[in-house]
Amino acid sequence: MGINEKQKIKIAMFDTKKNDVDYFTAANRDNKYDISFFEEKLNKNTVHLTTDHDVVCVFTNDTVDKEVIDALAKKDIKFIALRCAGYNNVDLAAAAHDKIPVANVPKYSPYSVAEHAMAMLLTSVRRIHKAYNRTKEFNFDIDDLVGFELHGKTIGVIGTGMIGRRFINICKGFGMKVIAYDKFPIEKSRVDYVSKEELFRESDIISIHCPLTNLTKHIINRNSISKMKKGVIIINTSRGGLIDSDALLDGLMSKKIGAACLDVYEDESDIFFRDLSNHIMRDDVLARLLSMPNVIITSHQAFLTDEALKNIADTTLKNIGEFFLTGFCKNEL
Ligand code: NAD
Repeated sequence: MGINEKQKIKIAMFDTKKNDVDYFTAANRDNKYDISFFEEKLNKNTVHLTTDHDVVCVFTNDTVDKEVIDALAKKDIKFIALRCAGYNNVDLAAAAHDKIPVANVPKYSPYSVAEHAMAMLLTSVRRIHKAYNRTKEFNFDIDDLVGFELHGKTIGVIGTGMIGRRFINICKGFGMKVIAYDKFPIEKSRVDYVSKEELFRESDIISIHCPLTNLTKHIINRNSISKMKKGVIIINTSRGGLIDSDALLDGLMSKKIGAACLDVYEDESDIFFRDLSNHIMRDDVLARLLSMPNVIITSHQAFLTDEALKNIADTTLKNIGEFFLTGFCKNEL
């Protein structure tokens, strides 16, 4: 691969936070890799930082489009390592054209995301977010904190992959009726598959666990919302683009949607992972969503557990090592 065994593989890692430095430094215990941790996101303006590196390591909100990939090819970048599962931000066709293999971390801990989805749902239906703020202020009033039980409710799960299946098991543990839609249903499984339309019509709660693709973009839109039950709760821990945010906002305003639990947001890339507490929020839709008592937003942190971070760092470096040793990586996309 143009690197002899004694040379360290140089990795340019983008959009890094303290967690990345801590966990990747620990995973690089034998010092095999020379890692540059850049806080900047990868895009056409920062691609120059990859000069003299062998590998680019990116996360969910880096821009890895054709323009960036062409620039990476000119800089002789040999491998693009995603340190996440989703790869909707990477132009795979452009990477293939420029012969830069791309690999992801397909499973690091589906439990992290599935448990976060349930944590958000419980927070919402038991009004924990409101109670937490009240008791912190020595306000022990319980008015307007009436919730409802999950037991017996119908939950519709879109996408029954690794995360969706874990989430289904958790929901079953709560005594919920689970129905699911998947474009590629698992044969001979115990999952109760229904059509998308039936899922929209029958669900008290809908949780999205499919990838963002051309087919799934805005799978939650004005039309699908119109088919849903009044008061439906929507959970999205997958990708922001799966929901048309304007339609969601209108659904919440009209009370057709009872609550939303969002770990991802359509236009999150310049907002999430940053402390903007001293800035004016320019995104009116997000500001409006955040102002609502029945909307809970976390900043793309469903994956953020010790177990997942260890797995991500170990697998990402393993992907890179495997490729440079053998010219092949089993997690190549
Ligand atoms: P997976 O590939 O195991 O499962 C995805 C499922 O979606 C598959 O069963 C697939 O058949 C289904 N699917 C594909 N196209 C579909 C369509 N058009 N309609 C309905 N279903 C469709 O993936 P996973 O590991 O379960 O992850 C699911 C998603 O979760 C990822 O794509 C990623 O975007 C997101 N994710 C988010 C976080 C976070 O921190 N918030 C972390 C990891 C993953």
